[in-house]
Amino acid sequence: MFQDLHIVDFHAHFPIKGDVSTSGVGVRQYAAGTPAAEQAVYMRAQAERYRAAWRLAWDFPEPDPEAAEQPLETLADRWLAELDRYGIDRIGFATGGGNDTLARAVARHPDRFIGFAHHNPFAPGAADELRRAVTELKLRGLKILAPALERRIDERSLYPLWEAVEALGVPILIHFGMLGAGGGISWNERDNPGALEQVARDFPTIQFVVPHFGIQYVKELLFLCWACENVSVDTSGSNQWVRWMPYSLTLDDLIRKFYETVGPERILFGSDSSWFPRGFSIRYLQDQIRACRFMNLPDEALRQIFGGNAIRLFRLGGT
Ligand SMILES: [Zn+2]
Repeated sequence: MFQDLHIVDFHAHFPIKGDVSTSGVGVRQYAAGTPAAEQAVYMRAQAERYRAAWRLAWDFPEPDPEAAEQPLETLADRWLAELDRYGIDRIGFATGGGNDTLARAVARHPDRFIGFAHHNPFAPGAADELRRAVTELKLRGLKILAPALERRIDERSLYPLWEAVEALGVPILIHFGMLGAGGGISWNERDNPGALEQVARDFPTIQFVVPHFGIQYVKELLFLCWACENVSVDTSGSNQWVRWMPYSLTLDDLIRKFYETVGPERILFGSDSSWFPRGFSIRYLQDQIRACRFMNLPDEALRQIFGGNAIRLFRLGGT
């Protein structure tokens, strides 16, 4: 499949009950200053309208609310079947019901699943929890949602965590830009990837990955990548946020711009897949491969973008 590319999805979510993902609702529970109950109801309705329109545009099925309630083993096996169905080598789950739960899911199919630790970086003991997650639970990265944090990503209090990341040699996936569906967070003082620059300079061996091409901060992310060679981007999700940019911008534009500047060794394919019955979002992969092929990118660039870079960052050796 896929012209013999070995596909690794760097960024998906394991859709188990109670997971904090990009669904929007969980995000607001996670954010500081939870809105009042009526406000939350209103925003949930707005988000639901937004998601319904998005599913219509992509012809996605409606999420099955009971799917996330299935036993972890059932969900893990269902995901494995998705990977086999579409010829995907490996998948990285950025979240999945907390570190212990996700580790159990990954342990069920360790040759195909990769898990990220995901816990509040400002919580006491966050660095120790990361060490436990990587050394004991065998997770291979750290996922952070910057706009949902209590404070900015460049606070000195986070440096012990960065030191742990540096020693462990795992990549960090840090979401910046708008978060959630319609009614989600569009802006706050923590959501700009530019805030990562000092951290990335102070820890030049840590590999930072900013998902979704930086969303509305495309420019800031490009310049961050210019300043710091240890910052990469992922292509994950529908990238429908381009519709809200004040100028014409397409998936093809994004891939071309990042390819020409940042280079193929710092672009990672991701699908941001999560819920069933949709499962693996094959359309996003097809669209991205089509865009790269139409640009006549060399085969080696495709090998890097769609799998090789993820293997390198996760230190998994050749597949
Ligand atoms: Zn995601």
